Amino acid sequence: MIKYKTPEEIEKLRAAAQVVSRTLGMLAAEIKPGASPVKLDKMAEEYIRDQGAAPGFLGLYDCPSTLLISRNETVVHGLPISEPLHEGDIVSVDCGALLDGYYGDHAYTYEVGEVDADTRQLLRVTKEALYKGIKQMRAGNRLGDVSYAIQQHAESHGYGVVRELVGHGIGTTMHEDPQVPNFGRQGRGKKLKEGLTLAIEPMITMGTHRVKQLSDGWTINTVDGKPAAHFEHDVAIVNGEPDILSTFDYIYEALGIKEES
Ligand code: MG
Ligand code: MG
Repeated sequence: MIKYKTPEEIEKLRAAAQVVSRTLGMLAAEIKPGASPVKLDKMAEEYIRDQGAAPGFLGLYDCPSTLLISRNETVVHGLPISEPLHEGDIVSVDCGALLDGYYGDHAYTYEVGEVDADTRQLLRVTKEALYKGIKQMRAGNRLGDVSYAIQQHAESHGYGVVRELVGHGIGTTMHEDPQVPNFGRQGRGKKLKEGLTLAIEPMITMGTHRVKQLSDGWTINTVDGKPAAHFEHDVAIVNGEPDILSTFDYIYEALGIKEES
């Protein structure tokens, strides 16, 4: 059952999402060759608690960490390990926060040092796909319109769209109805209404879309070992239009880059 949110609830979700946004911005300056994922995880936990919030993932489904750190061929759900980041890696950092009873959940894939052009294109297209999906999240459209926009953009570049993992509703629980696949058909699925709040999160691969879970019970890798990218925003329908509750602006500020947020 979908829980549509009041304007007051949407502001609480925005505040929680912004805790995550600031945390991802803080991490942007720390993500470089030699950085330890374990240390990044501890820094993020402290930073979230300093904002009066709690880590959203830690303990949820027995998650052992504040961040999920997914490198290169890891699509999502990578656990922070001591192996340092390497020049040329890409690293998706997914972060959750719980503030005043509401969850934020968003993610960015960072470049570690110099990344090759093909991989940079994968990042660019995945982020574009996220915004193309968000643009379809308006009252009167269908959920399939969001899914289709993401899939269409990724596949038009020859990329794979992961099937097993999807976006989701978000509110007083991290994962609410509806599921938000990154593939689908236009005009199909639930009609989108005022107060809908979603975490939209394309997971796009350079090669096959097929994935496997590793024996740690968390890490999801591409089957062919090719890289994957993951970007996530929390979005609400306000006055019929998509209102992005999270932001990448803190990341862009830290990295000194100008991009459309
Ligand atoms: Mg997430
Ligand atoms: Mg999510």
